[in-house]
Amino acid sequence: MERTLAILKPDCVRKRKVGEVLRRIQEAGFRLRAMKMVTMSKTEAEGFYAVHEDKPFFDDLTDFMSSGPCVPIVLEKENAIADFRALIGATDPEEAENGTIRSDFADSIQENIVHGSDSPSNGEKEAAYFFPEHEIVANQ
Ligand code: ATP
Ligand code: MG
Repeated sequence: MERTLAILKPDCVRKRKVGEVLRRIQEAGFRLRAMKMVTMSKTEAEGFYAVHEDKPFFDDLTDFMSSGPCVPIVLEKENAIADFRALIGATDPEEAENGTIRSDFADSIQENIVHGSDSPSNGEKEAAYFFPEHEIVANQ
């Protein structure tokens, strides 16, 4: 079964939308395999988003991602990567389709409520960034 690593970002926690976003994720058929609340350090946020280290928004992005608690979640589903990205919508909420999580809750291209992995191999790597394998529960 394919895995994706979702993060309910600090803006999602601050806006008290964790329950609403989780409800949508579960209703879309994703199975929760691991979840916790954590405040990333600046260094941890830089490590997580290292692929973007040359981008002009990298410093602001990692400040934002370390600005408060977030909720990393390992999700499983067939076609999890593509289906999750369809559920959350485009990076920029202005461009996200109506009814997607980002369209409904995000304020800006940076503060866009939720992260989703962009490939199966990154899904596995990003899950391991937050959870040792023994903290990821098996199929119920
Ligand atoms: P994520 O990786 O968080 O799921 P994504 O894959 O839709 O988002 P990426 O291109 O990987 O988008 O960008 C990572 C994150 O960096 C975005 O979710 C957003 O928070 C931030 N970001 C992306 N582009 C910009 C930008 N032009 N200005 C400010 N922040 C940006
Ligand atoms: Mg991305």
